[in-house]
Amino acid sequence: MASNVRTRFAPSPTGYLHIGGARTALFSWAFARRHAGTFILRIEDTDVARSTPAAVQAILDGMSWLGLDADEGPFYQMQRMDRYKAVIGEMLAAGTAYRCYASTEELDRMREEQRARGEKPRYDGRWRPEPGKVLPAPPAGVEPVVRFRNPVEGVVAWDDLVKGRIEIANAELDDLVIARADGTPTYNFCVVVDDRDMGITHVIRGDDHVNNTPRQINILRALGAEVPLYAHLSMILGDDGAKLSKRHGAVSVMQYFDDGYLPEAVINYLARLGWSHGDDEIFTREQFVAWFDLDHITPSAAQFNTEKLNWLNAHYIKHSDDARLAADVASRLARRSVDPETGPRLESVVALYKERVANLNELADAAELYCVEAHPSDELLAQHLTDAGRAALASLKARLADVAWEKSALNQAIKDTMAEHGLKMPQVAIPLRVATLGVAQTPAIDAVLEVLGRERVLKRIGRYV
Ligand code: GLU
Repeated sequence: MASNVRTRFAPSPTGYLHIGGARTALFSWAFARRHAGTFILRIEDTDVARSTPAAVQAILDGMSWLGLDADEGPFYQMQRMDRYKAVIGEMLAAGTAYRCYASTEELDRMREEQRARGEKPRYDGRWRPEPGKVLPAPPAGVEPVVRFRNPVEGVVAWDDLVKGRIEIANAELDDLVIARADGTPTYNFCVVVDDRDMGITHVIRGDDHVNNTPRQINILRALGAEVPLYAHLSMILGDDGAKLSKRHGAVSVMQYFDDGYLPEAVINYLARLGWSHGDDEIFTREQFVAWFDLDHITPSAAQFNTEKLNWLNAHYIKHSDDARLAADVASRLARRSVDPETGPRLESVVALYKERVANLNELADAAELYCVEAHPSDELLAQHLTDAGRAALASLKARLADVAWEKSALNQAIKDTMAEHGLKMPQVAIPLRVATLGVAQTPAIDAVLEVLGRERVLKRIGRYV
């Protein structure tokens, strides 16, 4: 049954989708899904100087990679200008907003005088209409801004679903400019009109917006709109406890894709960043949606923990099916200009490595060894492809030419070679690894040979004997 829960994610496209934004999106999405409600994507692109189409695309890419599908939108604020202007007109007509002709110089002077008197600088209401007050005649040739007529008395209060009750005295809020002299609406105003028009019931967003909330509530009330519930999420700190920033490196969501993380690992990780369900650390997207609530969001800041993310990523890789991993690895190889068709079936390669890697790039590194002829370092060659090593490889090569190509027979061929030359396992296995894959450490050598295939193995050994 669909409910009336409507949430939105409202990013400003001034940069990529970062980890904090992704968590906000995830919580808004999950809350809507949990209540069979509607999740809306709204692009807040009114900061024309800083918004870019590339950033919009990065946001859409990030959300789609994480599987955060919107039911409505994306809506673009720049396409809603007429709507905002119409509402400003309605407010002027209703007297909940008014034109202010004060020039910038005049307002600067006003603030300076207030500061000199030891007062907090604020708009003094000089153009605010009041019963019985006579306003000056509008100066000729001046385009006015439009200000919201904020209530002067009482408090604005809301029960924040994360932070608890918050109250601000109206005396602290001056009359906000809602339209600039050129008629363009301002940030807080657009948010309010959209939240109302889109019927948002729960505003889940970063707590950097707490200061905007009392103003937004006052404007919503002036419009006769229902005030949504607010849940302000605490910020995310970096591994080092400082505010999460670009300094912390991989903060763009798509950077995690590049770095070889699975989206379900990132989702699981973000879900636990400030929210908990008992001691559960590993859970599916479906479980998260079934469990998600706003009561278990912690009001304190969450700290990023790269180690934990890596642990989750390794877990999800280990439990992913081979075909899915193979498809991912194939595209990573293609991006490195390695043709996966030149190697053995990728499914069998990833099966051999998926329990040993921390990320998908490491899986692709391993797969690359199977596709591209081995290029061992001079050091490895000198250390392991000694005369004794080469002699062992030569007799092993002869055995491998007609052995049954499966692990136990391959293992027997290695053992026979050891016996023939009086060598221990590593004295045969390591030269074999270096010759076939170019590295000294691999999964069990019989499994490696089986996957690599007779033809490749003989050809690769053949370069040294
Ligand atoms: N556009 C704002 C931001 O990116 C979010 C506004 C909101 O959620 O109300 O920070």
